[in-house]
Amino acid sequence: MNIKERLHRILATLPEGVSLVAVSKFHPAASIMEAYEAGQRIFGESRPQEMTAKAMELPKDIEWSMIGHLQTNKVKMIAPYVTMISSVDSARLIEEIERQAARYERCIDILLEVHVAQEETKSGWDVDELRTYIASGALSSMPHVRVRGVMTIATNTDDESIVRGDFKRIRDIFEELKGYFDTSFDTLSIGMSDDYPIALEYGSTMVRIGTAIFGHRVY
Ligand SMILES: *Cc1c(COP(=O)(O)O)cnc(C)c1O
Repeated sequence: MNIKERLHRILATLPEGVSLVAVSKFHPAASIMEAYEAGQRIFGESRPQEMTAKAMELPKDIEWSMIGHLQTNKVKMIAPYVTMISSVDSARLIEEIERQAARYERCIDILLEVHVAQEETKSGWDVDELRTYIASGALSSMPHVRVRGVMTIATNTDDESIVRGDFKRIRDIFEELKGYFDTSFDTLSIGMSDDYPIALEYGSTMVRIGTAIFGHRVY
């Protein structure tokens, strides 16, 4: 199967209202163009430099989504064009996004990355710290940041019950946090190549799929 066929096969399995981020990190611009010509417009990248180079080269109606851990000093590189930053894991990072988005008179969508996996290494907010931060009201003074929802990466394991536990927890957190925001808080970003069918069962509204579209990455 080629990229177009794999993309269309995946899209056919997504319920209405679920968006697909085609994760193109480490794949060449030519692969992105294949997906683009098949109709895909949202692409996910994990490194600011790589994303910026691709954004300069590729069609302007692509919506770029930063999915990897983002250092605060790299925000300014992507602020002029990025549509969504889905790996937002600290107050400092949010403040920097607000500052840079304001400079460009833009509003940048963000997802709060929450740590729910059974692994020490995974990034993301601790749930209690996130609750405290949101309750502080700090976000209400940031007009250039729009909090669209939450994102997580489930535990990397063959044990499906652990993955289900992670998705259940993030879905509960998503429902709880909705109470603090307006209707634009509508995005539950869960599900990657190996676990997206399960994520859909837990109400995913945004899957992030790389390998199943573009094949294996060569690092
Ligand atoms: C790389 C990556 C993906 C895509 O992973 P695949 O297994 O290739 O589908 C999704 N989300 C995040 C945060 C990633 O870093």
